[in-house]
Amino acid sequence: LTKDRFPNLKRGSYAVVNSTDVDYFTNIVGVNNFISGEEVKSYNEDWLKSVSGFSKYVLKPKTTEQVSSILKYCYERGIAVCIQGGNTGLVGGSVPVFDEVILSTSAMNKIISFNKLSGVLVCQAGCVLENLMNYVQNEGFIMPFDLGAKGTCQIGGNLATNAGGLRLIKYGSLQGSVLGLQAVLADGQVLDCLNTLKKDNTGYHLKHLFIGSEGTLGIITKIAIQCPNAPKFVNASFIGLESFDKVLSFFSLVRKEFSGSLSSFELMDSVAIKSVQKNIGIKCPINDNLKFYVLVELSADNNYINHSIQEFLEKALNKEIILDATVADQPSLIQNLWKIRENIPESLLRYGYVYKYDITLPHENFYEIVPDIRRRLEKLDVKAVCGYGHLGDGNLHLNVATSEHNNEIASAIEPYVYEWTSKYKGSISAEHGIGFLKSKYLKYSKSNLEVDLMRKIKNNIDPKKILNPYKIFPQNDSN
Ligand code: FAD
Repeated sequence: LTKDRFPNLKRGSYAVVNSTDVDYFTNIVGVNNFISGEEVKSYNEDWLKSVSGFSKYVLKPKTTEQVSSILKYCYERGIAVCIQGGNTGLVGGSVPVFDEVILSTSAMNKIISFNKLSGVLVCQAGCVLENLMNYVQNEGFIMPFDLGAKGTCQIGGNLATNAGGLRLIKYGSLQGSVLGLQAVLADGQVLDCLNTLKKDNTGYHLKHLFIGSEGTLGIITKIAIQCPNAPKFVNASFIGLESFDKVLSFFSLVRKEFSGSLSSFELMDSVAIKSVQKNIGIKCPINDNLKFYVLVELSADNNYINHSIQEFLEKALNKEIILDATVADQPSLIQNLWKIRENIPESLLRYGYVYKYDITLPHENFYEIVPDIRRRLEKLDVKAVCGYGHLGDGNLHLNVATSEHNNEIASAIEPYVYEWTSKYKGSISAEHGIGFLKSKYLKYSKSNLEVDLMRKIKNNIDPKKILNPYKIFPQNDSN
């Protein structure tokens, strides 16, 4: 339980849900969408099994109106609410810390419209990303982002965390693709910024406040997002290299040759690959004794990428920049290559517990922290220390896998990793957000003035602080 690991953390002075509240909630969402008892357990625990609260109730509204009625009531009563999408978040933001009522968006899963001319999709927040991907693909479009958690994460959660993922290098961040959204504020008011047109410079763009707000400013209920046309040609290459310097030289060559067609450039070190082989049973498609691997995806409307990739890789092999490679241009084969990269988080979790660091660093210093942490943890009981991630975007996932959570290991890594990151002016959370687990480290990426301004915004929109309490802002626990 979170309260055992953070004993000094105090529950806020929120109302405790009573039987009148239960009747009210049941009346709004219906008996089938009001969850209590044993079934609530899985909603209390995050994907990493790193934090868990003890909420007794989960509400699954189907409409914006229901969300509004719930929040209006909670606001008046002073009941704290934890907002949960697919619960794949990696910073403990999606689960309660104490007994907050869980509002799950899972039943808000309707696609509202898709405009084939503009490529604009409008949907409810609880739509699972993979379902949206399949839907727009049938219309000749793609979603402008992709994550390993696509089968479970929801688009509302993606916006709330400003998820990055595997295609950011080509299509940019969600801040650019999201045209509009609807959100319910803490007091139940419905903020309608659901623009579906591209341009609008009429004052502040309030939608940006909610993208990356991790459920602390409002509940996102509807989304309008710009989908790009599906590229006519896609290929993926799985490449092995002997050193990180070679990885950087290769990245520079790929960018020069393929610039606008580069849709992913993912790094995996040998420890990450071994973890997938050992714990999931997926084989490395090339020589599995190399130090580094990259997965390069190219996508374009011109067949040039398929014609030139082989020749390009052969040249790189001849110059010994890379040591081994395989290319796929058929969807199922491409997917097989992606499976290796996408299974790294799950494979590491199979060791028992994972300390996850999602940081940005300059390319020149990108990988240095990984061997440094390995040396630092040498004498401790650690199963794996590995580095992987979205190298194209300067985003490293440094993961330390152990059999269980251990305070000695935790304090050997934190705040060391954040001090290191801050030294290079990197972000301590490139794409996962701050949530509960990273809140006390916010200062490494945000100045006092920034945090102060963020607090003012929060306090103004949610003066009773009922929405996702204990998240983002530093709390009173020193652990
Ligand atoms: P949840 O985990 O349910 O919630 C995340 C946060 O958003 C919480 O603070 C929650 O309160 C809030 N929230 C959820 N829904 C709403 C809403 N409708 N309104 C307001 N607030 C809301 N992340 C990346 O960025 N890139 C990756 O490549 C990536 N890969 C991953 C791979 C795996 C295997 C896993 C398990 C996770 C990965 N993640 C990645 C992290 C995670 O999938 C993302 O953060 C995702 O966007 C969370 O979506 P969710 O629906 O699961 O949200």
